[in-house]
Amino acid sequence: MSTDIDLSVHPLTQDPTKAWEKFKQTQKSIKIQPPIPKGPVADDKVRIVCMSDTHSKISLMKFDVPLGDIFIHAGDFTSCGGLEEVIDFNNWLGTLPHKYKIVIAGNHELSFDPTFTQHTNINDIPTLGFEQDLIKNAVQQKNIKNYLTNCIYLEDSMTECFGLKIYGSPWQPEYGGWAFNIPRGQSCLDKWNLIPAGIDVLVTHSPPLGHGDDCCSGVRAGCVELLLSVQNRIKPKYHVFGHVHEGYGITTDGKIIYINASSCDLRYLPVNHPIVFDIALPKGQEKK
Ligand SMILES: [Zn+2]
Ligand SMILES: [Zn+2]
Repeated sequence: MSTDIDLSVHPLTQDPTKAWEKFKQTQKSIKIQPPIPKGPVADDKVRIVCMSDTHSKISLMKFDVPLGDIFIHAGDFTSCGGLEEVIDFNNWLGTLPHKYKIVIAGNHELSFDPTFTQHTNINDIPTLGFEQDLIKNAVQQKNIKNYLTNCIYLEDSMTECFGLKIYGSPWQPEYGGWAFNIPRGQSCLDKWNLIPAGIDVLVTHSPPLGHGDDCCSGVRAGCVELLLSVQNRIKPKYHVFGHVHEGYGITTDGKIIYINASSCDLRYLPVNHPIVFDIALPKGQEKK
């Protein structure tokens, strides 16, 4: 764990909308549209293709996944983490040609969260808008992660691809009692404190405050502590996430690039194209 900077919980952590009103007096969240990298990747660069929130709707996508070296999915690949859904997703991953495929879970992957799979009373689980049978089936799956054989599954963990450090975390501030929900404030900060400083690409399911987190209801859903940790301690080159479907797109604060890669829109239709970027290889690293 990196403890070079000690962050504490922000006083406005429970009210991200108000927090952003204050933050935006001293920092910006600028929407950008960098040119989409096309053609062959330069020898000293790696092409990364990002998606998120496909929610078992991949068969409805009206576009192909762009080619690249690394594929990243930032969670919510199912509707509720059902076994069939996970198997279908894994089979689809197997068709992608990217050398490395990185996946994290989101709040919809109930079967990936021990809080659900170890639930003693199935009736305590909220219906979450789905049939109880679907939920029941999903949370009774054991070792569901073993079905993700065609990717590197990250959960509070890191992997290295072409010398690039990529870290993944499924947690988000509480939202309707779904998977990987934790209270805002110290609980969230404790999870972000697990992330080492100086990584190249951070993948979380949750957006940070101020970037890709503005909901259609007018509130900001992002995590205050995630933004503060990312800007002041972790300092990745890129931060990839999803979760807030309507926040799809790319923003920057002038230093870090924030990518909300939500494929599905608010109606859960997979209309948003994957987001692609090229990142320089670490010095001395060759792409073999
Ligand atoms: Zn989603
Ligand atoms: Zn989500």
